[in-house]
Order: sequence, then structure tokens, then C-alpha cells
Amino acid sequence: MKQNPISPTIPLNRDGVHHGFLKLPYSRDDSAWGSVMIPLTVIRNGEGPTALLTGANHGDEFEGPIALQELAATTKSEDITGRLIIVPGFNYPAFRAGTRTSPIDRGNMNRAFPGRPDGTVTEKIADYFQRTLLPMADLAVDFHSGGKTLDFVPFAAAHILEDKATQEACFAAMKAFNAPYSVELLEIDSAGMYDTAVEEMGKVLVTTELGGGGSSTARSNAIAKKGLRNVLIHAGILQGEMQLEETVSLTMPDDDCYLFSEGDGLFEIMADLGQPVARGDLLARIWPLDRTGQPPMEYRARRDGLLISRHFPGLIKSGDCVAVIGVSAA
Ligand SMILES: [Zn+2]
Repeated sequence: MKQNPISPTIPLNRDGVHHGFLKLPYSRDDSAWGSVMIPLTVIRNGEGPTALLTGANHGDEFEGPIALQELAATTKSEDITGRLIIVPGFNYPAFRAGTRTSPIDRGNMNRAFPGRPDGTVTEKIADYFQRTLLPMADLAVDFHSGGKTLDFVPFAAAHILEDKATQEACFAAMKAFNAPYSVELLEIDSAGMYDTAVEEMGKVLVTTELGGGGSSTARSNAIAKKGLRNVLIHAGILQGEMQLEETVSLTMPDDDCYLFSEGDGLFEIMADLGQPVARGDLLARIWPLDRTGQPPMEYRARRDGLLISRHFPGLIKSGDCVAVIGVSAA
């Protein structure tokens, strides 16, 4: 296969703290010999496990970039054993634009794996992770939240996998992250996901959904920072005591957890995030935008559980995700 055009401006395998870039040549109208410069920090102290840490897989999800900027700016090599590879802006063009997908090629990083060395900008970044960075890693933490169009209760997640040894290691790392909610996910459409690329290599993956609405809060950022530190202690990379509090364990066993809109309109949520709901409970109503005197469309829970995600904007379109129910794993 072709060589990937990305080159790191710092060593990936030398002791010390190194701040630099993944440099991706990208010739364009405003910069003939220009490059996309993706910020990168590598911190290494001797032999030990490697953690690959990513934020802004989707460019409008901000807890990860904030927690990773702080980690990169404050960690000294003597604080760790092994190596941290920190990329706060995974889909960097999307992150700079504050959009879910890349403004260059509309690429969704979490649908671009395994990528292509001669593909679009997004596919080139995916290929560099697939063939260069992931093989170096023992575990990966990939931060998500709801972005501009969804909001979530703050959770860490791990996938139900065919490889039960990898699944158990992922569940243990999710528990170490210790978000207020912990979710076991059966991924319905896993093709192209970074998560799948990590898991198929037999590496440990923790992913999250820490909030949403296209911003972050003091609480969601604190959850990201605590979880990151806990996972790195769990992996034997950082010294210190894990900070553990109670977590609510949930599963998402099937399609009945998800409700999707079948029309456009004015969105009225009828329950708040974290609220227990029973099958048949009214979760949302969608009112017409263009007339009065008409009844709203009603969306009702198809299972008992907790409301863990909701559509965020005040208007909704046909096909948008209305709400998601998580089911108690206890
Ligand atoms: Zn995301």
C-alpha cells in the first residue's frame, strides 16, 4: 500500500515532552504548497504502555479537546511510565470550523476508517491512525459528546464485542473512567468507525458521550478530566489514586432504545435527561411550524429505562434522532 503523506514534526519514540504537529500536505487556492498542521503532543518516559488520546473526532464536541489540552500542557515526563500520544483535534479541519464533519471534504472521521493514504484529507488522517499510530498503542480514549444537535447524560461507553477478552478489558477501562453513567453498547452500524478499528486490533478502547449542544460545561469538563486521569492510572501510565464515585450502569440492547422523527416541526421535549421513563410515556411532541389548531405528533417510549439522549435544537426535521432510552444493566 502507498505511503501516507502525513509526517510528525516531533519524534514519536523519544523520552521527554514534545509538542509539534502531524503535518499533512494540502495544496489549495489560498496556499499552493500548504499543509494541514494537526497539533500533537508526545510524552514518553521509558518502557511501558502507550495511550493514544483523541478529542474532536467530531469537530463540535469540546470536552475532549479541553481535557487533552490541559493534559498536554501540564504533564511532565517524570509523571508517567510509558507514552502518551495526545491529539486534541483528531478531525482538525472540522474542529477549527466547529462542525461535526470536515469543511474540506465533508468527511465524518468516525465513518472514514480504515481510511486511504491517497484519499481525501479525512481519509488520509484515518489511514495514518490506522497504520501508524494505532499499532503503537495499547489503549485509546476517544472523547465524544452530542455536538450541536444532541445532548446526553454524561457517560463512558464500551462495546459488546465478539472478542470477549478485548470486551472485558474495554469494560474494565470504562469502569475506571467512572463517568456518572456507564453504557454497554451494541453498535448497530459499526462499519467505518474509529472504535471498530481500535477494537479489531485487539486494543482497549474507551469512548464517551459527555454532554452536547455544541459546547461544554464546568461539570462535563470535570468529568472528562477525572475520567482521563483515572484511565491512565488504571493503565499503569500515571501514578496516583483513582477517584471513584457511584456510576449508573446501562445497556442499549436494541433498536427500541431509539426514537426518530417522522416529520419537521417545533420540538417539545416532555422529559429531561436522566429521568426514569416507562414504556408508553410521552417523551416528545412535534408541533407544526406553519399553522395553528393542529394536534402535535407524539413520540412515546418503547421501553422502560432512563432518558439518556435527546434532540437539542428547538426545531426538528424528519429523520432526526428524537430521544434515546438506556436500560438498567443491573
Ligand atoms: Zn462524536
